[in-house]
Amino acid sequence: MIVVMKLDASPQEVDAVKGRLESLGFKIHPIQGVKRLVLGAVGDRKVVSSLNLESFPGVEKVMRIMKPYKMVSREAKEEDTVVRVGNVEIGGTKVVSMCGPCAVENEEQMLHIARVVKEAGGQILRGGAFKPRTSPYAFQGLEEDGLKMLARAREETGLPVVTEVINPQDVELVAQYADMLQIGSRNMQNYSLLKAVGMTGKPVLLKRGLSATMEEWLMSAEYILAEKNYNVVLCERGIRTFETYTRNTLDISAIPLIKSLSHLPVVVDPSHATGNWKLVAPLAKAAVAAGADGLLIEAHPNPPEAMCDGEQSLSPKNLQRLLWELKPFLKAVGRN
Ligand code: PEP
Ligand code: MN
Repeated sequence: MIVVMKLDASPQEVDAVKGRLESLGFKIHPIQGVKRLVLGAVGDRKVVSSLNLESFPGVEKVMRIMKPYKMVSREAKEEDTVVRVGNVEIGGTKVVSMCGPCAVENEEQMLHIARVVKEAGGQILRGGAFKPRTSPYAFQGLEEDGLKMLARAREETGLPVVTEVINPQDVELVAQYADMLQIGSRNMQNYSLLKAVGMTGKPVLLKRGLSATMEEWLMSAEYILAEKNYNVVLCERGIRTFETYTRNTLDISAIPLIKSLSHLPVVVDPSHATGNWKLVAPLAKAAVAAGADGLLIEAHPNPPEAMCDGEQSLSPKNLQRLLWELKPFLKAVGRN
């Protein structure tokens, strides 16, 4: 339920409404808009009708949210959310490029690609230190050593870092090094992990599950917001279909659809969506044209030698070219 407060509602009037709802077991999420304060209240809807909240001084109107996801919905918040990662804003006028290797392999590789990303105009550095691999025998990541290499690359370039966490027990450790926590596709419905990253208050990049519907994806985001962490960015990374020539199928419609259903920023990962570096640039352009707030792009100093996902990784030259070629597309949609 959404309680819209009047423009001139006093702090005492706001506290009275909050107090009443909290005494009935509601969790309150205050949302300060440009003009007015809205109180998101999540709890037992059976008691709502007997509450008569409209009669409370300072209350303008009360609205039920019919969708199963509440705080992530546009009904709860009309204005677009802007998530700050270090000094970078996602969801504002700039389209943010988050680039780097699939996995952190060693310090030299990480520093090399970090310099390339910085020079090409990328704003956030990515790299996996904990890798959720399909095979238990594949490289699983450098773990804390990898996190240290990411931190070192951030120190040198000033680029904030996004990296994946795959386990609730590791959230604290990863949060010490990362500016943004990534929840991978395979973990989109790992609810204890979602709660754990929610509790850190750190920005979260929530990837869409391999076969997740929009509603399941938004419900996962709701888990994070329910912990009062509103810094969530959604990432479309392709879904499972019958097609085998691409690793996944990029669901471009997810961008405008999510934007109509939710106030959260949406970024697109054309690397995992296609599994083929040659398809990354055209789909990155399509994503920008469809309104994406950012791109997550895998890049490696030497893709054929990459320990993981080399086939879909851009070389330094190709990354530079793509970020340059995106400019007219950004301009066409009024972004930069
Ligand atoms: C990744 O970004 O490295 C990754 C493993 O992606 P996904 O979870 O989308 O497969
Ligand atoms: Mn990868």
